[in-house]
Amino acid sequence: MKITDLKCTVIGENPVIRITTDDGIDGYGQAENSKPYLCPHVLFYKPFLIGEDPTNVERVMQKIRRLGGFKPWGSAVSAIEMALWDIAGKAAGVPVYKLLGGKVRDTVQIYNGGVRFPMNGTSPQDYADNVALMKAAPQKFRLIKMPIGFHSTMPHQVPNFAYGDPHESRHQSNRGLMTEQGLKHVVACVEAMKSVLGDEIGLALDCGPGWMVPDAIRLAKALEPFHITWLEDLITGDYVPYVLADVYREVTRVSTTPIHTGEQIYLRQNFRELIESHAVHIIGPDPADIGGLAELKWVAEYADLHGILMAPHGIFDGLIGLAGLVQVCATLPANFIAFEYPIARPDWWYSIIEGLPNPIVENGQIKVWDTPGLGVRFNVEAAKAYLPVGDENFFD
Ligand SMILES: [Mg+2]
Repeated sequence: MKITDLKCTVIGENPVIRITTDDGIDGYGQAENSKPYLCPHVLFYKPFLIGEDPTNVERVMQKIRRLGGFKPWGSAVSAIEMALWDIAGKAAGVPVYKLLGGKVRDTVQIYNGGVRFPMNGTSPQDYADNVALMKAAPQKFRLIKMPIGFHSTMPHQVPNFAYGDPHESRHQSNRGLMTEQGLKHVVACVEAMKSVLGDEIGLALDCGPGWMVPDAIRLAKALEPFHITWLEDLITGDYVPYVLADVYREVTRVSTTPIHTGEQIYLRQNFRELIESHAVHIIGPDPADIGGLAELKWVAEYADLHGILMAPHGIFDGLIGLAGLVQVCATLPANFIAFEYPIARPDWWYSIIEGLPNPIVENGQIKVWDTPGLGVRFNVEAAKAYLPVGDENFFD
């Protein structure tokens, strides 16, 4: 089997890639939403792929892997890898999890990232009200993640939150030492959320990046009585193109509150110091950024060897990304906690993708399906209506 074409379009908010072959099998991959600029980057890899046997996934990946980078520049490589596994699974007539070593669990645990309700503000009561809505959601989430600190609008909305003026630009993260009032506000919001969730639903907190070490340590210690599942991306994270494992280690070593990072990191080599120096308790690579499903699997196994837990990122990965997350997370060792549940954007994505369970989430978990490849497929006739002008032949 040989690869004949690589295509990319944007359907709704997600870049979607399609790899076609000379025997009629095709494969799909998806990148995080709000990356419409990605398609030219995806097509850059096309000459490296044409003529290759897609079922030799690693051999193909060796041609393009070093031409990627930290988020967002690992996305295209990762989506291609996902599509190669989709083809390999379809060609073998088995779900991708079989090719990644086989499943070790029949249902995968998720945490709520995608099902969100508008926040009225950033007061403790606003946070309590918001998690009450999530607690009542039909998915019956067992673990919820909420944004606080520099990962929220607190720097803008809470008076005297930190020293220095907050930036407005989305990709210029706010950083700096917090005031005593600012830190107390964060802790009060966490206390308010825990008063709603109790000890039956876990609470993880996406915090930064942008915290300074003394504040990060103060926060981790102050939250010890609340049994927080993890504090995410205090120092680096999101779109920060470096890791700073040694700085994380300073925070991680002094408190019992689990510290988490890694959603933007590309490739196993860039996780090495985090893992080997035990700089965090939990890592959260995104299969659509780390370099793909097999890369995430490899890092998870290496993390497990070092006593480090896994909670993969995925909020923006769309429904094909969701399928990839289910496939790979079914194969991870017991250090797997949960992956971040993506929802479709816009909602009509649910009407153009077939193969997902209905409902997708039950009791905070997703049942692993057994259809070949990633196990999801487009309803092509329905999906064609949403192709952008100029990409009408995407499915041809
Ligand atoms: Mg995050």
